Amino acid sequence: MYIFVSIASFPKRGDLTVKMIKLPFCKICLKTGLLCSACQEKIKKGLYKEKDLEISRRILEFAEKEKGLAEMEYKKSIERNGVLVLVFGRGSLNKLMSSRGIKLIKILEKEFKQEIRVIEEGNRQEIIRNLIPATIKSYNTIYYPGELTVLNIKIDPQGYKRIKSKKDAYESLIREIIGINYVQISA
Ligand SMILES: [Zn+2]
Repeated sequence: MYIFVSIASFPKRGDLTVKMIKLPFCKICLKTGLLCSACQEKIKKGLYKEKDLEISRRILEFAEKEKGLAEMEYKKSIERNGVLVLVFGRGSLNKLMSSRGIKLIKILEKEFKQEIRVIEEGNRQEIIRNLIPATIKSYNTIYYPGELTVLNIKIDPQGYKRIKSKKDAYESLIREIIGINYVQISA
């Protein structure tokens, strides 16, 4: 009795990696650069920016070349004052923090000539910790009547000195990502 095994039915490791990565655009559209109407709509409606298209394309290229980049989901990017935040789906971050994932972020940083911060959806404090490149000492949320919420974030003095020039950018990013009225970062 012969057991016939079709080699073609076994995806190569690189292909498998590509399958496990979720992107906001069709992979075929990213590869060919010719966007289908659904992908075009996403940009036209303002759901995604050209930059998301570019980032998605880079992630896909990297996943095809580098085998073993783990399963993850790229959601979108947000930009403020030279800081580019890449938002990934829940559970993506620890997979992304592998040596290959770090290499990918370095490539993107070089490509876009921007500081890149990587976060995943979910826990607020974790988002803030990943967003601000300094040690956070405390978080204090104050709720005022009329749905006004103020979040005070205290960071260590050394770290504060380092990030001071981009403080406004981080505050604005946290406001948008977490959906809070007012954010203040101080030492
Ligand atoms: Zn498409």
